[in-house]
Amino acid sequence: MNIILLGPPGAGKGTQAKRLEQKFGLKQISTGDMLRAEVAAGTAIGREAKAIMEQGQFVPDPIIVEMIQNRIGQADCSQGFILDGFPRTESQAEALDSMLAKRELTIDAVILLDVSEEQLVERIASRTSEDGTRRKDDEPEVVRSRLKVYRDQTAPILPYYEREGRLRRIDGMQSVEAVGTALDDLLVPVSR
Ligand code: AMP
Repeated sequence: MNIILLGPPGAGKGTQAKRLEQKFGLKQISTGDMLRAEVAAGTAIGREAKAIMEQGQFVPDPIIVEMIQNRIGQADCSQGFILDGFPRTESQAEALDSMLAKRELTIDAVILLDVSEEQLVERIASRTSEDGTRRKDDEPEVVRSRLKVYRDQTAPILPYYEREGRLRRIDGMQSVEAVGTALDDLLVPVSR
């Protein structure tokens, strides 16, 4: 089973993706985590992405598309994957469809975690990682530009998935547990 999790930054995609990995034996593919690893390792991609990410803007589509193309073909994705943070632009959505078609893979569910913007700013402001450090792009002014970029570039891909009735919505303002249950209810029938 292959899934796309959509939603603005702070909607809970990462948290829920980790839960789904355990529950359904899938692999989380987070382009944000992959880029942060590139930055930490000081690779060419990391050097290009660092400043862009710190401003809350999007890393160029060709870099992202190539990263995903390499990732979905790896052995640990063979039981299925959860795309978290990709696609984020219409051109990424189209590139995804064509790379899946080439591999004869399909997406079984496209799920939007629906949340209100005001609560997102609060939620992200109080977010720290497990080691207690804070992402630079979680500073309030960067969060605001990330939300704007989401509104301008990512929200417009929703109709792409809404056509053919592919998009399912879950209320992301509920507790982590309630969102998890809603996801399970939606995915258990799909996983059979
Ligand atoms: P995330 O952890 O998903 O919020 O991603 C953190 C940052 O990485 C984003 O604000 C972008 O700068 C960059 N990024 C992650 N995924 C993508 C993507 N699919 N397209 C472009 N930029 C991305």
